[in-house]
Amino acid sequence: MQTAPAPLTAVRTDGVHIHLADGRRLVDGTASWWTACHGYNHPHIRARVAEQLERMPHIMLGGLVHPPVVELSARLAKRLPGDLEHVFFSESGSVAVEVAMKMALQWWMNQGRPAKRRFLSFLHGYHGDTFAAMSICDPHEGMHKRFAGSLAEQLVVGLPRTRSELETFRQLLARHADDLAALVIEPLLQAAGGMKFHDPDQLRAVVDLARRHGLLIIFDEIATGFGRTGTLFACEQADVIPDIMTLSKALTGGTMPLAATVSGQRVYAGFLSDDATRALLHGPTFSGNPLACAAANASLDLFDTEPRLEQVARIEIQLSEGLAACRRLPSVREVRVKGAVGVVQLHAEPEHVMLRQKFVDQGVWVRPFADVVYLMPAFVIAEPDLELLIRAVHDVLGGTTD
Ligand code: PMP
Repeated sequence: MQTAPAPLTAVRTDGVHIHLADGRRLVDGTASWWTACHGYNHPHIRARVAEQLERMPHIMLGGLVHPPVVELSARLAKRLPGDLEHVFFSESGSVAVEVAMKMALQWWMNQGRPAKRRFLSFLHGYHGDTFAAMSICDPHEGMHKRFAGSLAEQLVVGLPRTRSELETFRQLLARHADDLAALVIEPLLQAAGGMKFHDPDQLRAVVDLARRHGLLIIFDEIATGFGRTGTLFACEQADVIPDIMTLSKALTGGTMPLAATVSGQRVYAGFLSDDATRALLHGPTFSGNPLACAAANASLDLFDTEPRLEQVARIEIQLSEGLAACRRLPSVREVRVKGAVGVVQLHAEPEHVMLRQKFVDQGVWVRPFADVVYLMPAFVIAEPDLELLIRAVHDVLGGTTD
């Protein structure tokens, strides 16, 4: 609070635009931390939430259910690949990850294998800010490293790429097979830990090895879920179905906080018993909030009726072509694009406050972190607005804005 610049006051949003209290309008390159995939204030989402607000804004999910949560569970089960059909709702991505980890641990307890209680995750991974989630993030990650001594000790390793790295990874799995409960990974895009991509083959190889050594597979699709990498879920590109998947962010089209931890039949069956102590006992107060579920159902309607994945494909082309010019800038180390994610990685960490201010001066909302400047706009963004974002990235990084 002592050093942070005063935040800008946003008073209104529409489409891909943020309107500030002082009258300025910014084109949003981040879709509010990758949530607002249909743009802001989509009339269909607003209408379904308004309708639900009249009827029942909230009801506890213990002992009661309601139509929006039943509809959403069924629709997610239908949309998700394989047998991922048992849905547990919470309110944030971090909590969804906590629940996924707890599920994996208890699943092994229920199998009579309580010693399997560690997790295997990856450098550059990011899974949230709560304690269990922090323990599986990249330990060098700036926000969490001071807590290292208070976190459960997990195995966090580099994502193997080459044949020899895969062999080292296999040996690690063999050594720790008795104490590892699950592998946790953000498939195809490691987002908040550095915007790193890996390809479907690499993902498949890692998952195959982990499965062979008896680990459950948890895919954190909180950032990638709902179209961001070009398919509705990133795992589809690798043709891999995890045991547990976490979802949030774009689940409600960015309208309301909601997250889901979804499991397949094998995990579900491990809890089903006459013995109540085998059940997953976790009960967030606002689990399955009806307004949030109404927003998520409306968001799924839009994926059914509007050409979101085609829009992502178009954005991918425009980002690839447009950001290519950044490769010639001396400060730029690499440019990479996947789906509606455009990343410009710099040689060194820039001065963020100054850079952000320059973006605002260009009429865009772009939030660089660490050594990356990225664009993850709403899928409905029009070509000229995306052009403005791309040009702003080029000009700000090239120092040609004045
Ligand atoms: N997992 C991933 C992949 C994420 O990108 C994030 C948020 N950046 C989280 C988990 C945590 O989600 P939340 O901020 O909603 O707690």
